[in-house]
Order: sequence, then structure tokens, then C-alpha cells
Amino acid sequence: MNFDQPNPFAPKPDLKVFLNGKIVPVAEARISVFDHCILYGDGVFEGLRSYGGKVFRLDEHLKRLEDSARAIQLEIPMTRKELSDAVYDTLRANNIGDGYVRLMVTRGVGTLGLSPRRTACPSVYIITDQIDLYPKELYEKGLAVISSSIVRNHPNAVSPRIKSCNYLNNILAKIEAMDADVLEAVMYNHLGNVAECTGDNIFLVRDGMVQTPPITAGILEGITRDAVIELIKKRSLPFRQMELSRHDLYVADECFLTGTAAEVIPVTKIDGRPIGTGEPGPVTRQLIEDFRELLASGG
Ligand code: PMP
Repeated sequence: MNFDQPNPFAPKPDLKVFLNGKIVPVAEARISVFDHCILYGDGVFEGLRSYGGKVFRLDEHLKRLEDSARAIQLEIPMTRKELSDAVYDTLRANNIGDGYVRLMVTRGVGTLGLSPRRTACPSVYIITDQIDLYPKELYEKGLAVISSSIVRNHPNAVSPRIKSCNYLNNILAKIEAMDADVLEAVMYNHLGNVAECTGDNIFLVRDGMVQTPPITAGILEGITRDAVIELIKKRSLPFRQMELSRHDLYVADECFLTGTAAEVIPVTKIDGRPIGTGEPGPVTRQLIEDFRELLASGG
């Protein structure tokens, strides 16, 4: 067995990572094999973006991180100000103005066994790097998606509102998408209603009204979703958060996804069927433009 084969996906060796109070070269940024985040997926995280050296809605992300941590009774060993400073320090250490930030809080090292009471010292680490989730041309052409057979987490299981380090359910749906030669999959909740995609929230437009599933559909309350809802309200577009079915997606005029990495991206095909005309629609185009303006104005 050769465990030392070169990895084409390995991080750049000069990357610097924040780990528990220090900024260190990526090779020195090590987490124990006994960290419960590795053993059990016991931890929470955030994905953020920096534009021109300013992190988009940093405070909202840190608030969501705190909520995720509270929901799993994990105490973050840093204040919000310390986290915020650490994010900017890591960006600066890597000379990144436009980039992606991954902020992780792990349960920490403990004994084998699920109990978090037998762990100590949660770890905080921050990676900053580039991310290209979707090819550029798809923002013009639109994305094809499928309906996943994997049901989004039941709200009484690991709540979808917790951004936990256990994404396996979504990864299974992502694998289904890749096997179908598309980049995203729509996940439905235990009632069969539309929830969200594996890493993005979903919106549709029908007869001029923008619609999106409510938080109670079992979704992550996306920071981009909130920003886009503000833009929709600013334009006084008819808007409703409502239960949506697969039928609603099939008969929609337009569809788009929102997420930190994806920003706002049109969806033009679902399950092999064109959505509306099969081209990104006018409302989607307008909101993409509005979102870009919002980013350009500093968020
Ligand atoms: N849903 C899921 C499951 C996600 O992982 C994400 C983040 N990638 C989103 C929605 C979008 O949230 P945000 O806009 O805060 O990135």
C-alpha cells in the first residue's frame, strides 16, 4: 500500500492557517486523530467570502456559528471580536483580498466514545483560499440540477439549521448529482417539500412572484438567502416564503440558487426538463446584478 502518492488536490505548501491562536504553515496545522470532529463529525463551521479585503456579512456568519455551537452545547473558546480579528489576520497572512474563508470549531481531543463530556479544549482553525464552485459560463447559461432521493435532515435529527461538520447527508446527494452529470441536487424534506440544495438555498419565480421555502421546511438560513430577500424587498417584487413541491419547480418560470460560494446562480434545467424558457429569466438576471452591486458597495 502506498499512502504517499502525490495528491493533485493538496493545498499549496505556502498556505498559512490559523490554528488555536497562531498562524502556522499548512504543514504544521494539524488536528489530532482523537479530535471528536474527526472521530464523529462533532463540530461546527462557517464558510465566508472576502471581497476586496472585506468579509461579507462577517457578523451574521459569526452569529450563525455561535448559534450552531450553542445548539450542540459546544463552547467556542474565542470571543466574536477575537474570531473576527483572526479571520482578517489569516486573510492578510495569505495576502488574500478576494477569497473564501473556512472557519471551523471542533469538539476537541477526547477519549473514544461519543460523549463530548470526555473531551477538552475545542479547536478553532481558519483556512483562507480560493474557491471556484461553478464555472463562470454557468452564471450566463444556468445550471442543471436533479431531484435527489436523499431526504434533507429531519428537523428533529441534526437540525439543518446547524452548520455542523457532518455533511454526509448532503454529500450523498452531491454524489447523486455528480453521477447524473450535473453539479447540484435539490433535496426535499421528510414531507416531500423542497428544502434546499446540497450547499445552496433555492428560489423560484412563478407569474412574477419570487418564492422560497421557509426555514421551517428544514433548511440552513443562508446569509446569501437573507441578503437576496433584502434585495427582492428593495425592488418591491412580490415575494413569499412558502412550501414548494417538485411540481412547483417543474412549472416555475425561473429558478436560482444562493450561497456564499455560489453567490446567485441561475438554474435552467431540473431532472432533464427545461425551467421556463430554458434560459436565465429576467428576475434572476436582475437579482444577480443587484447582488453584484451589493458586493461592490461593500455588502
Ligand atoms: N444550504 C446549505 C446546506 C449550505 O451548506 C449553505 C452554505 N454553503 C447554504 C445553504 C447557503 O448559505 P450561505 O448563503 O450562508 O452560504
